[in-house]
Amino acid sequence: MMHAPDLSITPSGDATGMAHAAVSGAIDISHGPILYVEGVSVSFDGFKALNDLSFTLDAGELRCVIGPNGAGKTTMMDVITGKTRADSGRLFLGQTIDLTQLTEYEIARIGIGRKFQKPTVFENHTVTENLELAMKADKGVWATLFNRLSAAQHEQVQAMLARIGLRERADSLAGLLSHGQKQWLEIGMLLMQDPQILLLDEPVAGMTDEETERTAELLQSLAGRHTVVVVEHDMGFVSSIARTVTVLHEGRVLAEGPMDKVQNDERVIEVYLGR
Ligand code: ADP
Ligand code: MG
Repeated sequence: MMHAPDLSITPSGDATGMAHAAVSGAIDISHGPILYVEGVSVSFDGFKALNDLSFTLDAGELRCVIGPNGAGKTTMMDVITGKTRADSGRLFLGQTIDLTQLTEYEIARIGIGRKFQKPTVFENHTVTENLELAMKADKGVWATLFNRLSAAQHEQVQAMLARIGLRERADSLAGLLSHGQKQWLEIGMLLMQDPQILLLDEPVAGMTDEETERTAELLQSLAGRHTVVVVEHDMGFVSSIARTVTVLHEGRVLAEGPMDKVQNDERVIEVYLGR
């Protein structure tokens, strides 16, 4: 079951003090895909980081994106989240929402969450407080400072602690967590916003084998409820979670399909494995 997101964006007066145009309406996934990337190009000083990139994501799928260094994987996430503007091409959330018309802030609010490689948690707050802050981030400063958690919100935080495997560390300062635990906490913080699409850039880099395995389980548990895109170098990790793998090379899709098919694709072997 997809949960209908709250897409109302207030015209002004959010915590950052910026004014934003109103965006409303549900994400129309009646044709299957939740995200369309069509012919998107991005140049940096004449160099095409994305070169006519096209692919779609189905609602609720767990997609892995691989490709050699410089293939455009991070730029792809930047362009979906509005951090970088496409020079040309179309980006649609569902059938109706044109992402190229929204600011980075509005794209986040409409339900596209993004995690960078380095964990960014509030180190001087406890794990529980980090989740509470993430949950209330869109309620404005007043509510965040003065409102008590409702019983339902308290339940949500407890459930998330269990989901990300940090119940035992609930009262620890986030700064004292291991690298892997910080990554889980940040994923939990993103999930508190109940994003439609979650973009994760190299989530298991620097993790122990055990942490990597637990991350695989966590990401698999998200499929169905969220659409998840994982950029990752760790091929063992990718084969353990991937349904569909998209291989990027020189800013466009080189191959796409199930892991075993992609792994045996001659072009992929050539460019990705460097043979
Ligand atoms: P990947 O994440 O697949 O390793 P990136 O998307 O980071 O690749 O980069 C794709 C290409 O675009 C690289 O050649 C990179 O040097 C270049 N690039 C990325 N961001 C910028 C930028 N802000 N300015 C100039 N070049 C950039
Ligand atoms: Mg990258």
